[in-house]
Amino acid sequence: MTETPVLICGGGLVGLSTAVLLAGRGVRPLVVERHPGTSLLPKGRGLNVRSMEIYGAAGLAGALAAAPQSVLTRCTEVIRARDLCAPVESRSARQAPGNLAGLSPAKPLMVDQNVVEPVLRERARQLGAQLEFGTELLGLDQDASGVTARLLDRDSGRERELRARYLVAADGHRSPVREALGIGVDRIGRSRQFVNIPFRADLSGLLAGHRTALAYLGRPVPDTMLTRLDNEETWVLMVPFDGATAAEEVFTRERCAHSVRAALGADVDVELLSLNPGEPTLVQSWELSSWVARRYRAGRVLLAGDAAHVMAPAGGLGGNTGVQDAHNVAWKLSLVVRGLAGDALLDSYELERRPVALVTRDYCAQRQESRTSGDGDRSMAVDPLSMSLGYHQFSAAVRAPGTSGAITPASELWGAPGTRVAHAVLRGRDGEISTLDLCAGGFCLLAAADGEKWVRAARAAAEERGLPLSAGRLDKEWEDIGGVAAATLRLSGEQALLLRPDGYVCWRSEEGDDPGRALPEVLDTVLAREGLVTASHNERSASDVR
Ligand SMILES: Cc1cc2nc3c(=O)[nH]c(=O)nc-3n(C[C@H](O)[C@H](O)[C@H](O)COP(=O)(O)OP(=O)(O)OC[C@H]3O[C@@H](n4cnc5c(N)ncnc54)[C@H](O)[C@@H]3O)c2cc1C
Repeated sequence: MTETPVLICGGGLVGLSTAVLLAGRGVRPLVVERHPGTSLLPKGRGLNVRSMEIYGAAGLAGALAAAPQSVLTRCTEVIRARDLCAPVESRSARQAPGNLAGLSPAKPLMVDQNVVEPVLRERARQLGAQLEFGTELLGLDQDASGVTARLLDRDSGRERELRARYLVAADGHRSPVREALGIGVDRIGRSRQFVNIPFRADLSGLLAGHRTALAYLGRPVPDTMLTRLDNEETWVLMVPFDGATAAEEVFTRERCAHSVRAALGADVDVELLSLNPGEPTLVQSWELSSWVARRYRAGRVLLAGDAAHVMAPAGGLGGNTGVQDAHNVAWKLSLVVRGLAGDALLDSYELERRPVALVTRDYCAQRQESRTSGDGDRSMAVDPLSMSLGYHQFSAAVRAPGTSGAITPASELWGAPGTRVAHAVLRGRDGEISTLDLCAGGFCLLAAADGEKWVRAARAAAEERGLPLSAGRLDKEWEDIGGVAAATLRLSGEQALLLRPDGYVCWRSEEGDDPGRALPEVLDTVLAREGLVTASHNERSASDVR
C-alpha cells in the first residue's frame, strides 16, 4: 500500500495552504481533491494582513501581488435598499482594515479566492507536494499509528487504499471526514441557504455612478445580496431559499431571470452566466451559518478551515481564519512527522485554534447582523486589524498562562507570550528583515544585546535535539535600527524571548533563570518531547521527509 506522511483531503484554500506550509517545512504531503480543478467562484474576496504575513513567509507575496486584483479593490460601498431602483435606505463604506503603519511587514490584498487557489496550487507543486485533483476520499479507518484512506480516481473509477501517518481534513463545510468521525458543531443563530445567480449586466445607470461593492436588497425576497463577480459588468445575486429542495431544481432559467429583474427593480438587459463552463447548471448554493466544530482533533485526524468552522461572510474572515489554521497545524505536524516533537504537540492545535474560531464566529455573525440591519460596520467593538493580528493562542506549547481567543489591539502587541511577536525592522546580513522573518526557518531565540548566554544555550539545546532554530542578539547578529525592536519587544540587558515557527512568542526569560536548564526545559515542554521515545521511531520519521 502506498504511504504518505500527511494526507490532506480537500484542495481548496485551506488544503492547498496546508500543503504549501508543510512542504515548505520539509514534509511532502499528498492532497486529494475531488473536483478536477480549483474553485470557480470568487467566494473569499481578500487576504487579510495576517494571511499575507503567512503567505509572504512562504514565498508567495510576489505571485499574489502579480495576480489580478479583485474588482472589489475599486468598490467599497455597501448599500441597503428594497431594489436597485428604490431609494437607498443606508449607504456605508466597507470598513477599512485600519492603520497598518509600523504594525506588519505585509499589507492586505484584495484578490479573489478563485485567483489565490491556482497560485497556491503551483507553489505547493514547486515545493514537492503531491496533488491529485479528481480524486475523492471515500472513507477512512484509523489506528494508533496512522490512517488508512480509501480513494477514488473519479475519471477511471479506480479505487485504491493509501496509508498516512496523519490526515488533515480540509474538506469544506460539509466535511465528509467530520461527519464520518461524528464530530458535532456549536452553532449560533439561524442557518440559511442561499443560491448564487451569476449574471452580466450594465448596472452603472441604476447605481447612479456609485461604485457599489455589495447591496442588501428586499427583493425578490428579504436579505437578498448583490455583489460584483469578476469585473465591472458581472454580478452575482445571492437569494435566500428554502433548502429543502435542491437549488438547481427550483432555480430554473426563468426563475433566475425573474429574481434578477426583481432585485434590480427594472427590466435591464441581463445575460445569465454559468459558473461551470460546459455544464447546464446555472446556480450554486451555499449556507450562511455560524458554527465551530466541537473537536478539531480525533486521533490522527485534524480538521482545518471550513471543515472546522463556518463564519458569516460579512467579516471577511472565514477563509482567512482557515489560513491561520493551516499555519498553526503545519509547523506542528512537520516537527511531529520528522520525529522532533511528540504527538501531544498536536493537541495544542485545538486548544489554540478552536477558541479563536469561536471569537471570530461571533464577530462575523454580529457584523453580518449589523450590515443586514443597515447599521453598517459602525457598531463593531473590535477593529478588523486587531481581529487579524491580535488573537491569543495558549496551550502547553506556550510557557505562560493565558486564554486562547482573547484579542490584544494590534497597536498594543509587544511580544507577550501567547501573542504574535510585534513587528519591528532589523538589519541582518542580507538586508532589512522583520522580527516576524526571524522564525521563517523554525524557532528563534532573540536576546537583548547582553543576552549572549541565552544565544549559546539555545544553539546547544537545538543542536542536541536536531531542531531548526536560529539565535541572535539585538545589535549583534541583528542590528536594531533606532532601538525600536528593543523598545517594542521590551528586551533589555540580558533578557531573551523564544519565538515559535508561527511567529508566536512562547516564552520570555525571567530574572535569575539559568539558560542551560531553562531552555532545554522550555523546548521539551513546548514540543511535548517527553512523548518521543524510540530511535527507530525517529528513523522511520526521517524516511518520510526530504
Ligand atoms: C459567498 C461567500 C463569501 C465569502 N467571503 C469571504 C471573504 O470575504 N473572506 C474570507 O476569508 N472568507 C470568505 N468566505 C469563506 C471562504 O470562502 C471559506 O472559508 C473557504 O472557502 C474555506 O476554504 P476550505 O479550503 O476550508 O474549504 P473549501 O473552499 O470548501 O474547500 C474544500 C474542498 O474539499 C473538497 N472535498 C470535499 N470532500 C472531499 C472528498 N471526500 N475528497 C476530496 N475532496 C473533497 C471540495 O471539493 C473542496 O474543493 C466566503 C464564503 C462564501 C460562500
